[in-house]
Amino acid sequence: MLQKEIGLQAVGAAMNLAATIQNEMTGKYTLTKTDRSPVSIADFAVQALICKILSSHFPGIPIVGEEDSLALRQPENRELLAKIIHYLKKCDAPLEEKEICECIDLGGAEPNGTFWTLDPIDGTKGFLRGEQFAIALALVQDGQVRLGILGCPNLPPATGGTLFWAIQGQGGWKIPAAGGSAEPIRASVKTDPTRMKFVESYESSHSDKDTQLEISRLLQISNPPEQMDSQVKYGIVASGDADIYLRIPNPATPDYREKIWDHAAGSLIVEEAGGWVSDIDGKKLDFAAGKTLRNNRGILASNGRIHSRVLEVIADLDGRK
Ligand code: AMP
Ligand code: MG
Repeated sequence: MLQKEIGLQAVGAAMNLAATIQNEMTGKYTLTKTDRSPVSIADFAVQALICKILSSHFPGIPIVGEEDSLALRQPENRELLAKIIHYLKKCDAPLEEKEICECIDLGGAEPNGTFWTLDPIDGTKGFLRGEQFAIALALVQDGQVRLGILGCPNLPPATGGTLFWAIQGQGGWKIPAAGGSAEPIRASVKTDPTRMKFVESYESSHSDKDTQLEISRLLQISNPPEQMDSQVKYGIVASGDADIYLRIPNPATPDYREKIWDHAAGSLIVEEAGGWVSDIDGKKLDFAAGKTLRNNRGILASNGRIHSRVLEVIADLDGRK
Protein backbone atom coordinates (compact mmCIF):
# COMPACT_ATOMS: atom_id res chain seq x y z
CA MET A 1 0.00 0.00 0.00
CA LEU A 2 1.70 3.16 -1.24
CA GLN A 3 -0.19 5.36 1.24
CA LYS A 4 1.31 3.33 4.09
CA GLU A 5 4.88 3.66 2.77
CA ILE A 6 4.66 7.41 2.20
CA GLY A 7 2.69 7.97 5.42
CA LEU A 8 5.34 6.16 7.48
CA GLN A 9 8.09 8.11 5.79
CA ALA A 10 6.31 11.42 6.50
CA VAL A 11 5.50 10.62 10.14
CA GLY A 12 9.00 9.23 10.70
CA ALA A 13 10.58 12.47 9.43
CA ALA A 14 8.14 14.50 11.52
CA MET A 15 9.04 12.55 14.69
CA ASN A 16 12.64 13.61 14.28
CA LEU A 17 11.62 17.23 13.65
CA ALA A 18 9.30 17.35 16.67
CA ALA A 19 11.81 15.67 18.98
CA THR A 20 14.53 18.12 17.91
CA ILE A 21 12.26 21.06 18.70
CA GLN A 22 11.13 19.55 22.02
CA ASN A 23 14.74 19.02 23.12
CA GLU A 24 15.83 22.56 22.29
CA MET A 25 12.83 24.62 23.37
CA THR A 26 13.65 27.82 25.24
CA GLY A 27 11.90 31.21 25.14
CA LYS A 28 8.78 31.76 23.07
CA TYR A 29 7.60 28.73 21.12
CA THR A 30 3.82 28.99 21.39
CA LEU A 31 0.71 30.95 20.51
CA THR A 32 -2.70 30.75 22.12
CA LYS A 33 -5.52 29.75 19.75
CA THR A 34 -9.00 31.25 19.78
CA ASP A 35 -10.23 28.26 21.83
CA ARG A 36 -7.48 29.23 24.32
CA SER A 37 -5.49 26.05 23.68
CA PRO A 38 -1.76 26.37 22.94
CA VAL A 39 -0.13 25.74 19.57
CA SER A 40 3.63 25.45 19.27
CA ILE A 41 6.06 25.94 16.42
CA ALA A 42 6.27 22.13 16.29
CA ASP A 43 2.55 21.87 15.46
CA PHE A 44 3.06 24.22 12.50
CA ALA A 45 6.37 22.74 11.33
CA VAL A 46 5.06 19.16 11.44
CA GLN A 47 1.81 20.01 9.66
CA ALA A 48 3.78 21.85 6.93
CA LEU A 49 6.18 18.94 6.46
CA ILE A 50 3.59 16.16 6.39
CA CYS A 51 1.22 18.10 4.11
CA LYS A 52 4.08 18.81 1.73
CA ILE A 53 5.05 15.13 1.49
CA LEU A 54 1.47 13.82 1.23
CA SER A 55 0.33 16.37 -1.32
CA SER A 56 3.34 15.79 -3.56
CA HIS A 57 2.60 12.03 -3.69
CA PHE A 58 -1.20 12.13 -3.52
CA PRO A 59 -2.35 15.46 -4.96
CA GLY A 60 -5.92 14.16 -5.24
CA ILE A 61 -6.37 13.24 -1.56
CA PRO A 62 -7.44 16.20 0.60
CA ILE A 63 -5.97 16.68 4.07
CA VAL A 64 -8.00 17.57 7.15
CA GLY A 65 -5.39 18.90 9.57
CA GLU A 66 -5.80 20.49 12.97
CA GLU A 67 -3.83 23.70 12.32
CA ASP A 68 -4.00 26.68 9.94
CA SER A 69 -1.46 29.41 9.21
CA LEU A 70 -3.55 32.50 9.97
CA ALA A 71 -1.79 33.43 13.23
CA LEU A 72 1.61 32.62 11.78
CA ARG A 73 1.10 35.12 8.97
CA GLN A 74 0.71 38.02 11.45
CA PRO A 75 3.71 40.37 11.65
CA GLU A 76 3.91 39.98 15.45
CA ASN A 77 4.62 36.27 15.00
CA ARG A 78 7.55 36.67 12.62
CA GLU A 79 9.89 35.35 15.29
CA LEU A 80 7.96 32.06 15.48
CA LEU A 81 8.02 31.69 11.69
CA ALA A 82 11.79 32.24 11.74
CA LYS A 83 12.15 29.39 14.26
CA ILE A 84 10.05 27.09 12.08
CA ILE A 85 12.27 27.88 9.09
CA HIS A 86 15.34 27.18 11.23
CA TYR A 87 14.14 23.77 12.41
CA LEU A 88 12.89 22.61 9.02
CA LYS A 89 16.35 23.40 7.59
CA LYS A 90 18.10 21.75 10.51
CA CYS A 91 16.10 18.56 9.95
CA ASP A 92 16.68 18.53 6.17
CA ALA A 93 12.98 18.94 5.50
CA PRO A 94 12.18 19.63 1.84
CA LEU A 95 10.45 23.00 2.27
CA GLU A 96 11.21 26.47 1.08
CA GLU A 97 10.55 29.42 3.40
CA LYS A 98 7.86 30.88 1.23
CA GLU A 99 5.85 27.69 1.05
CA ILE A 100 5.57 26.99 4.81
CA CYS A 101 2.23 28.76 5.34
CA GLU A 102 0.84 27.39 2.06
CA CYS A 103 1.79 23.85 3.08
CA ILE A 104 0.15 24.26 6.50
CA ASP A 105 -3.02 25.39 4.73
CA LEU A 106 -3.02 22.31 2.49
CA GLY A 107 -4.45 20.78 5.65
CA GLY A 108 -7.52 23.00 5.41
CA ALA A 109 -9.84 20.56 3.61
CA GLU A 110 -13.28 19.53 4.83
CA PRO A 111 -13.82 15.81 5.45
CA ASN A 112 -15.59 14.13 2.55
CA GLY A 113 -15.13 10.80 0.71
CA THR A 114 -11.46 9.84 0.90
CA PHE A 115 -9.20 12.11 2.95
CA TRP A 116 -6.22 12.19 5.28
CA THR A 117 -6.69 13.48 8.78
CA LEU A 118 -3.69 14.80 10.67
CA ASP A 119 -2.94 15.89 14.20
CA PRO A 120 0.61 17.19 13.80
CA ILE A 121 1.25 17.29 17.56
CA ASP A 122 -1.43 15.48 19.51
CA GLY A 123 -1.00 16.37 23.17
CA THR A 124 0.60 19.80 22.66
CA LYS A 125 0.40 20.38 26.41
CA GLY A 126 2.39 17.18 27.02
CA PHE A 127 4.87 18.23 24.33
CA LEU A 128 5.40 21.56 26.11
CA ARG A 129 5.90 19.82 29.47
CA GLY A 130 8.59 17.63 27.87
CA GLU A 131 6.38 14.55 28.18
CA GLN A 132 4.35 12.30 25.87
CA PHE A 133 2.86 13.45 22.57
CA ALA A 134 2.03 11.79 19.26
CA ILE A 135 1.98 12.56 15.56
CA ALA A 136 -1.25 11.07 14.29
CA LEU A 137 -2.13 10.46 10.65
CA ALA A 138 -5.04 8.46 9.26
CA LEU A 139 -6.57 7.75 5.89
CA VAL A 140 -10.37 7.75 6.01
CA GLN A 141 -12.57 6.45 3.19
CA ASP A 142 -16.34 6.90 3.35
CA GLY A 143 -16.26 7.01 7.14
CA GLN A 144 -13.97 3.95 7.50
CA VAL A 145 -10.44 4.39 8.85
CA ARG A 146 -8.33 2.42 6.36
CA LEU A 147 -4.85 3.30 7.60
CA GLY A 148 -3.66 4.66 10.95
CA ILE A 149 -0.14 5.83 11.77
CA LEU A 150 0.98 7.00 15.19
CA GLY A 151 4.45 8.35 15.86
CA CYS A 152 5.29 8.42 19.58
CA PRO A 153 8.78 9.97 19.91
CA ASN A 154 8.97 9.62 23.72
CA LEU A 155 7.51 6.18 24.15
CA PRO A 156 10.06 3.80 25.69
CA PRO A 157 11.85 1.44 25.46
CA ALA A 158 13.60 2.58 22.28
CA THR A 159 15.33 5.97 22.16
CA GLY A 160 13.67 7.89 19.36
CA GLY A 161 10.36 6.33 20.35
CA THR A 162 7.98 3.98 18.65
CA LEU A 163 6.06 4.14 15.38
CA PHE A 164 2.76 2.25 15.21
CA TRP A 165 0.58 1.60 12.18
CA ALA A 166 -2.41 -0.47 11.18
CA ILE A 167 -4.22 -1.26 7.97
CA GLN A 168 -7.91 -2.07 8.17
CA GLY A 169 -8.40 -5.83 7.96
CA GLN A 170 -4.67 -6.57 7.86
CA GLY A 171 -3.37 -5.99 11.40
CA GLY A 172 -1.19 -3.61 13.35
CA TRP A 173 2.56 -3.27 13.80
CA LYS A 174 5.17 -1.28 15.67
CA ILE A 175 8.78 -0.46 14.92
CA PRO A 176 11.46 1.46 16.86
CA ALA A 177 11.56 4.84 15.15
CA ALA A 178 15.36 4.76 15.09
CA GLY A 179 15.27 1.58 12.97
CA GLY A 180 14.85 -2.13 13.49
CA SER A 181 12.27 -4.66 12.48
CA ALA A 182 8.52 -4.35 12.57
CA GLU A 183 6.64 -6.48 15.08
CA PRO A 184 2.93 -7.27 15.04
CA ILE A 185 1.08 -5.80 18.01
CA ARG A 186 -1.52 -7.55 20.15
CA ALA A 187 -3.77 -6.17 22.84
CA SER A 188 -3.50 -7.94 26.19
CA VAL A 189 -5.38 -11.17 26.88
CA LYS A 190 -6.00 -10.30 30.55
CA THR A 191 -9.44 -11.03 31.89
CA ASP A 192 -8.86 -10.32 35.59
CA PRO A 193 -9.55 -6.61 36.14
CA THR A 194 -7.55 -6.46 39.38
CA ARG A 195 -4.37 -6.82 37.31
CA MET A 196 -5.33 -4.36 34.60
CA LYS A 197 -3.74 -1.02 33.81
CA PHE A 198 -6.20 1.83 33.28
CA VAL A 199 -5.02 4.98 31.46
CA GLU A 200 -6.56 8.42 31.06
CA SER A 201 -5.60 11.97 29.99
CA TYR A 202 -3.01 13.86 31.97
CA GLU A 203 -4.96 17.12 31.57
CA SER A 204 -7.83 17.23 34.07
CA SER A 205 -9.94 19.41 31.79
CA HIS A 206 -10.00 16.79 28.98
CA SER A 207 -12.11 14.19 30.79
CA ASP A 208 -13.99 13.42 34.01
CA LYS A 209 -11.29 12.04 36.27
CA ASP A 210 -13.50 11.66 39.35
CA THR A 211 -15.93 9.41 37.50
CA GLN A 212 -13.05 7.52 35.85
CA LEU A 213 -11.54 6.85 39.29
CA GLU A 214 -14.88 5.62 40.55
CA ILE A 215 -15.22 3.30 37.55
CA SER A 216 -11.75 1.88 38.07
CA ARG A 217 -12.69 1.19 41.72
CA LEU A 218 -15.98 -0.42 40.74
CA LEU A 219 -14.04 -2.66 38.34
CA GLN A 220 -11.75 -3.51 41.29
CA ILE A 221 -8.61 -2.51 39.43
CA SER A 222 -5.83 -2.54 42.03
CA ASN A 223 -3.85 0.46 40.79
CA PRO A 224 -5.34 3.92 40.29
CA PRO A 225 -5.58 5.24 36.70
CA GLU A 226 -2.32 6.41 35.15
CA GLN A 227 -2.21 9.72 33.33
CA MET A 228 -0.62 10.17 29.96
CA ASP A 229 -1.02 12.71 27.16
CA SER A 230 -2.17 12.07 23.60
CA GLN A 231 -2.95 9.02 21.49
CA VAL A 232 0.09 7.30 22.99
CA LYS A 233 -2.65 5.79 25.21
CA TYR A 234 -4.07 3.94 22.19
CA GLY A 235 -0.53 2.77 21.32
CA ILE A 236 0.00 1.19 24.73
CA VAL A 237 -3.43 -0.48 24.77
CA ALA A 238 -2.67 -1.87 21.29
CA SER A 239 0.66 -3.29 22.38
CA GLY A 240 -0.72 -4.86 25.56
CA ASP A 241 0.99 -2.46 27.99
CA ALA A 242 -2.34 -1.07 29.19
CA ASP A 243 -5.81 -2.61 29.14
CA ILE A 244 -8.34 0.22 29.39
CA TYR A 245 -8.30 3.80 28.08
CA LEU A 246 -11.37 5.71 29.18
CA ARG A 247 -12.41 9.26 28.28
CA ILE A 248 -15.64 10.31 29.97
CA PRO A 249 -16.68 13.81 28.82
CA ASN A 250 -15.83 16.51 31.33
CA PRO A 251 -19.08 18.02 32.70
CA ALA A 252 -17.35 21.43 32.71
CA THR A 253 -17.20 21.38 28.86
CA PRO A 254 -20.54 19.78 27.88
CA ASP A 255 -20.42 21.17 24.33
CA TYR A 256 -16.98 19.78 23.52
CA ARG A 257 -17.00 17.15 20.78
CA GLU A 258 -14.06 14.83 20.16
CA LYS A 259 -12.09 15.65 16.99
CA ILE A 260 -11.57 13.00 14.29
CA TRP A 261 -7.79 13.57 14.22
CA ASP A 262 -7.60 12.80 17.94
CA HIS A 263 -9.00 9.28 17.46
CA ALA A 264 -8.87 8.01 13.86
CA ALA A 265 -5.32 6.62 13.84
CA GLY A 266 -5.31 5.37 17.44
CA SER A 267 -8.68 3.63 17.27
CA LEU A 268 -7.74 1.61 14.16
CA ILE A 269 -4.43 0.61 15.73
CA VAL A 270 -6.21 -0.76 18.82
CA GLU A 271 -8.86 -2.58 16.76
CA GLU A 272 -6.33 -4.16 14.44
CA ALA A 273 -4.37 -5.36 17.49
CA GLY A 274 -7.44 -7.27 18.64
CA GLY A 275 -8.75 -4.64 21.07
CA TRP A 276 -12.09 -2.85 20.94
CA VAL A 277 -12.99 0.83 20.61
CA SER A 278 -16.40 2.43 21.08
CA ASP A 279 -17.90 5.45 22.73
CA ILE A 280 -19.03 5.19 26.35
CA ASP A 281 -22.50 4.06 25.24
CA GLY A 282 -20.95 1.19 23.29
CA LYS A 283 -21.53 2.85 19.91
CA LYS A 284 -18.98 2.54 17.12
CA LEU A 285 -17.06 5.78 16.48
CA ASP A 286 -18.64 7.60 13.53
CA PHE A 287 -15.95 9.13 11.32
CA ALA A 288 -18.49 10.15 8.67
CA ALA A 289 -19.98 13.06 10.61
CA GLY A 290 -17.49 15.84 9.79
CA LYS A 291 -14.51 17.06 11.79
CA THR A 292 -15.96 15.92 15.09
CA LEU A 293 -17.39 12.69 16.47
CA ARG A 294 -20.68 14.45 17.07
CA ASN A 295 -22.66 11.20 17.09
CA ASN A 296 -20.56 9.80 19.92
CA ARG A 297 -20.12 10.47 23.62
CA GLY A 298 -16.66 9.95 25.13
CA ILE A 299 -14.30 7.09 24.25
CA LEU A 300 -13.55 3.61 25.56
CA ALA A 301 -10.63 1.63 24.14
CA SER A 302 -9.79 -1.69 25.72
CA ASN A 303 -8.20 -5.08 25.23
CA GLY A 304 -11.68 -6.26 24.17
CA ARG A 305 -12.13 -8.81 26.93
CA ILE A 306 -13.09 -6.23 29.55
CA HIS A 307 -15.03 -3.95 27.18
CA SER A 308 -18.62 -4.97 27.90
CA ARG A 309 -17.94 -5.03 31.65
CA VAL A 310 -16.66 -1.42 31.56
CA LEU A 311 -19.71 -0.36 29.51
CA GLU A 312 -21.97 -2.03 32.10
CA VAL A 313 -20.35 -0.15 34.96
CA ILE A 314 -20.68 3.14 33.05
CA ALA A 315 -24.37 2.44 32.32
CA ASP A 316 -25.03 1.56 35.98
CA LEU A 317 -23.41 4.81 37.11
CA ASP A 318 -25.38 6.79 34.50
CA GLY A 319 -28.56 5.15 35.74
CA ARG A 320 -27.83 6.23 39.31
CA LYS A 321 -27.36 9.91 38.37
P1 AMP B 1 -5.32 13.87 25.73
O1 AMP B 1 -3.90 14.11 26.07
O2 AMP B 1 -5.66 12.41 25.56
O3 AMP B 1 -6.27 14.57 26.63
O4 AMP B 1 -5.56 14.40 24.26
C1 AMP B 1 -5.27 15.69 23.86
C2 AMP B 1 -6.43 16.21 23.07
O5 AMP B 1 -7.52 16.52 23.94
C3 AMP B 1 -6.15 17.48 22.35
O6 AMP B 1 -5.70 17.22 21.06
C4 AMP B 1 -7.50 18.20 22.31
O7 AMP B 1 -8.03 18.19 21.02
C5 AMP B 1 -8.38 17.37 23.23
N1 AMP B 1 -9.21 18.20 24.13
C6 AMP B 1 -9.12 19.53 24.38
N2 AMP B 1 -10.12 19.93 25.21
C7 AMP B 1 -10.86 18.84 25.49
C8 AMP B 1 -12.04 18.62 26.28
N3 AMP B 1 -12.64 19.60 26.96
N4 AMP B 1 -12.53 17.36 26.33
C9 AMP B 1 -11.93 16.36 25.66
N5 AMP B 1 -10.83 16.53 24.90
C10 AMP B 1 -10.28 17.74 24.81
MG1 MG C 1 -4.91 16.39 19.43
